[in-house]
Amino acid sequence: MVTVQEIIDKARSEGRTILTEIESKQLIKQVGISVSDTKLATSREEAVSISKQFGFPVVLKIASPDVVHKSDAGGVKVGLRTSKQVAEAYDDILGAIKQKYPRATIHGVSVQKMARPGVEVIIGMSKDAQFGPVLMFGLGGILVEVLKDVSFRIVPLTRRDAREMIKEIKGYPLLQGYRGQEPVDVANLEELLLKVSDFVEHNPVIKELDLNPIFAYSNGALAVDARVVLEEAS
Ligand code: ADP
Ligand code: MG
Repeated sequence: MVTVQEIIDKARSEGRTILTEIESKQLIKQVGISVSDTKLATSREEAVSISKQFGFPVVLKIASPDVVHKSDAGGVKVGLRTSKQVAEAYDDILGAIKQKYPRATIHGVSVQKMARPGVEVIIGMSKDAQFGPVLMFGLGGILVEVLKDVSFRIVPLTRRDAREMIKEIKGYPLLQGYRGQEPVDVANLEELLLKVSDFVEHNPVIKELDLNPIFAYSNGALAVDARVVLEEAS
């Protein structure tokens, strides 16, 4: 198991401030947040063998420090159920990215297990010039950009802050079990917010953090995408 410091040191030694999805997930896991196990494949054969190891269905994503919005660029393929689909998805992703970003550095393709459906939420952290680290909560996935239904609190959060910021989004009814859906484990989301708050409070080297989406369930939650940005080395 790599430590937070090792992950940071590695990125720094390579002159990067943006952690890869895999590094970001390793770091988030250290914070005590469940993430979908993710491995890097550097060939289609490796993508297939990792998929078999994880068990189908799987998700493939472009692993490139130059591609921030992976799905916009055709860089995410979900629900892959066979080796053939995985091999094709591998080629399709690389093809799409090479066309759209001819100059991108490509590490390969990340392979992860397909998470069961849940309510997609986002937890984000950015730094305000005046207030320092600020946490954001909202409905996640593609909805975040469309609905802009988010709430903010300044770090460090109290438990009450965490509770309020979840309850004050307009989409809160979706978390309470909308139209026969199971209600989401809101207490668990409060814990996640508090864990992120505690982590960023004690690690000022973290400049930005995005968990989008987190799949929220009736028991627990799972982050399937993560992005962490470090402060410039001083
Ligand atoms: P990006 O935000 O860079 O476009 P994501 O990794 O968030 O890429 O993937 C885009 C969407 O694909 C997510 O919002 C989610 O709906 C779906 N997705 C991603 N990873 C998984 C996974 N492991 N299991 C199920 N769905 C996933
Ligand atoms: Mg995402």
